Formats: sequence, structure tokens, C-alpha cells
Amino acid sequence: MFDYLMTEQQLKLRDETRDLVKWIPREYILDMDAEKIKYPKDFMAEAGRRNLIGIRIPKEYGGRGGQWQDDVIVAEEICVPGYIFGCAWGVSGDVVTEALVHFGTEEQKKKYLPPICKGEKYAAECLTEPRGGSDFFGATTIARRDGDDFILNGQKRFIVGGEGADYFLVYAKTDPEAPSAKSMTCFMVEREMGVKTEYLYNLMGSRGGGTARVVFDNVRVPKENVIGEINGASVVFNQMMIPERFGTASMTIGAARPALEIATDYSSRRKAFGTEIKNFQGVSFKIAEMVTKLDSARAMIYTTALAIDSGRVKASRCRRLASESKKFVTEQCWDVANLAMQVMGGIGYTDVYPIEKIVRDLRLAMIWVGTNEIMSLIIQHEHYRERLAELSAGDKRNSEMDALNAFAEGEKIYE
Ligand SMILES: Cc1cc2nc3c(=O)[nH]c(=O)nc-3n(C[C@H](O)[C@H](O)[C@H](O)COP(=O)(O)OP(=O)(O)OC[C@H]3O[C@@H](n4cnc5c(N)ncnc54)[C@H](O)[C@@H]3O)c2cc1C
Repeated sequence: MFDYLMTEQQLKLRDETRDLVKWIPREYILDMDAEKIKYPKDFMAEAGRRNLIGIRIPKEYGGRGGQWQDDVIVAEEICVPGYIFGCAWGVSGDVVTEALVHFGTEEQKKKYLPPICKGEKYAAECLTEPRGGSDFFGATTIARRDGDDFILNGQKRFIVGGEGADYFLVYAKTDPEAPSAKSMTCFMVEREMGVKTEYLYNLMGSRGGGTARVVFDNVRVPKENVIGEINGASVVFNQMMIPERFGTASMTIGAARPALEIATDYSSRRKAFGTEIKNFQGVSFKIAEMVTKLDSARAMIYTTALAIDSGRVKASRCRRLASESKKFVTEQCWDVANLAMQVMGGIGYTDVYPIEKIVRDLRLAMIWVGTNEIMSLIIQHEHYRERLAELSAGDKRNSEMDALNAFAEGEKIYE
């Protein structure tokens, strides 16, 4: 994030996070990429010990008590050693906890939040199913009422932390016949209740974050573990989508940043035709593009953080800004990683530098937590609604009428 806009306290928070990521041995990163480590428990435990999990969670539950402006600073730094560090950190301490903070009972908050913040327990979020992730409300995992309990049956797919998590935030159908927005309930399910996980995906990148299949085979969950209202999952979902998408966006900047740093250093030293390659505009202008892309991405993150923190921006606009951030920032960062590879030439395509890993890792950013097409769906939907409201308010200049022939008869035909 922009250090020249940070408060003293935020600079300290950033430096604490930089210390945390410097603590990670390089072998740990390589072992995660090789899947010798399936879930980064040691990293999560260390982050928890340093009070760097749950940045926006109130202090009384073990969090840092910060705002989005603080959260995005940590999210960027956490991903510098690899995107998957942020994925595991964010799902557990930013996304699942968002549901608990906003919709959990006092008992649920006291039980689940402190161990998550301390890095003693880990949480995963279970939305996507084999039949689809984009059409979330079409889920087929069922929770059937049985006295004071629910019996869960179904399967979730591609769940970060599936391998490793103690708690699973699960969305399941409780009234399949009802309209989709009133058909689902959100549950906090503990591994000991009988959750089975299978670690079976050969991911292209972002490895070592426990991404797994999660199976519920007659798992009995007490009604005390319902988060929010029964059949009320859609409001929980809407709230969680802010950290899910906005958090992901801010993390992605950190994962792309090393690509710029490495390409800058390389182009300052590597020579061709008797001069450093940075002296060719074909190279240095790529560096300029990368710098601009990362800064424009940061600008969007910063503005969105301010908007959400202000409490004055309505929820639908915050969701639009979060979706815009997710789409725009992940696309800028993807470009940055690829531009870096181009600047490096052939060596960038090898594992002598981590550029190829950054490219593999970052491809996920445009797919998970809602694809960028789904982000476009949300952005246009909210924008059309807002434009209609603007037109009926009638308090802005109508630019359409500023054309020479704006009043031409018989030309403005719409049907
Ligand atoms: C490594 C990894 C980690 C993940 N972690 C998690 C996790 O922790 N928890 C979790 O719940 N999920 C997780 N996911 C799942 C991820 O969020 C989904 O893969 C994603 O939402 C897309 O769902 P899908 O794969 O079923 O694709 P589909 O929904 O089948 O979509 C396929 C294609 O169709 C497009 N499409 C679908 N509907 C529309 C539409 N209406 N308009 C335009 N285009 C459309 C999509 O954009 C996409 O290009 C993870 C995935 C991966 C790969």
C-alpha cells in the first residue's frame, strides 16, 4: 500500500508483517510449492503468535481491532512470499471470521474467534461444489433437520484449508423448495463432527494451502452451530463477499510485487548489445507499465478501503467496489507477472528465478472467490441500477443533450 499515506501505527503494522514474512525460511516456501507441506500450520501459528491474524476482529475476541485500511496493508505484505500464504491467512482470519463477527452469537464468537486469531485453530470456507461455484445458490449440499440437530450430506470442492482446517463454514440447503435466496443456511462445522477431506488436486500453482475436497456424509451438526438465521444464508453470503473479494484483491498486489522488484534488478544488470537492457525502451517501458499497474491497483484498493471504513457508503456500492477491485487488481497483477517474465527473457521461464512460480500462483486470482466474469456481472448490475436512480433523481447534467443534433427528429430510435 502507499506508505506515504499510512499513519505511524500503520507503518508499524506493515513492518511487523514484513518481519513475519522474513521469518519464513525459503525451504518452507519451496516445500509448499512441492506439496511436501500441505497446509502452512507453522506459518499460521507464527502469524497468530504475532497477533497478525484477524486484523479487523475486535480486540476482545483476540483480533487486532483494525479497519480495512489496516487489513489491506497486512494482506499485501503477507503474499510477498507467495499468494497461497494470503489465501490461507485470509480465508481463516478474514472471511470465515467475517461471518462470525457479523452474524455469530456471543457464544460462537467467544468459542471460535480467539483460537483462530491466535493461530491455534484454522478455518476453511465451503461454498463451491462439483456441480458449480458461480451458481452458488444452486448448491446441492443438504442439511436435513433432525430434532435439535441438522444432518449434513454433500460435497464441496477446491476448499483452501480443507486439509488442515479445524472449522468449516458450510453453506447447505435447508429448504430446497424455497426461492434460492431463502433456501440455504450457514453452519460452523467442526472437523470432529465427522468432516472428511481428500487432498487430491494437482494444482498449477498456489500449492501448500490445503486445497481439498470436503465431504459430509451424515455429519450431525447441532442447531447451536447455525450462523445467522435458518434459511438466512444469503445475508451472510453477501457480507462475506466483501472480505472474500476485496481481501483477495489486496493480497494479489503483494504476490505480484516481487515480480516487479526482480525484473527491475535484472534489467539493471543484464547486458545485451553492450549495454544494460533497461536502456532499451522496449524493456524500461515495460517496467514503467508494471509500476503504473501496481500503483493504480493500490489506488483502487485504498479508495475502496476508505469507502467501506467510512460506514457512509451503502452495502450495494461497497459490493460493487469490492467486485471492481477484485477484477481490476487481479488483471493488473496478472499483467505485471507476465511483463516481468518477458523482461527476464528465457531465464524467467525457469526456476532459477521465482517469476514462473508467481505466474503459476497468480493465475488463480482471476478464477477463485468468484470468477472475474461474475465480478463483471455484479458491477454492471449495480451500475445499471444506480444509473436508473440517477435518472429519476434528475439532479445531474444530462450529457446526452450536448450533441449538435441531439434533438434530431426521428433519429433516436431504440426499438
Ligand atoms: C485453488 C483454488 C482454491 C479455491 N478455494 C476455494 C475455497 O476456499 N472455497 C470455495 O468455496 N471455493 C474455492 N474455490 C472455487 C472457486 O471459487 C470456483 O472455482 C469459482 O468460483 C468458479 O466456479 P467453478 O469452478 O465451478 O466454475 P463455473 O461456475 O462452472 O464456471 C465456469 C466458467 O463459466 C463462467 N460463468 C459461469 N456463470 C457465468 C455467468 N453467469 N456469466 C458469465 N460467465 C459465467 C465462469 O466465469 C467460468 O469462466 C477455489 C478454486 C481453486 C481453483
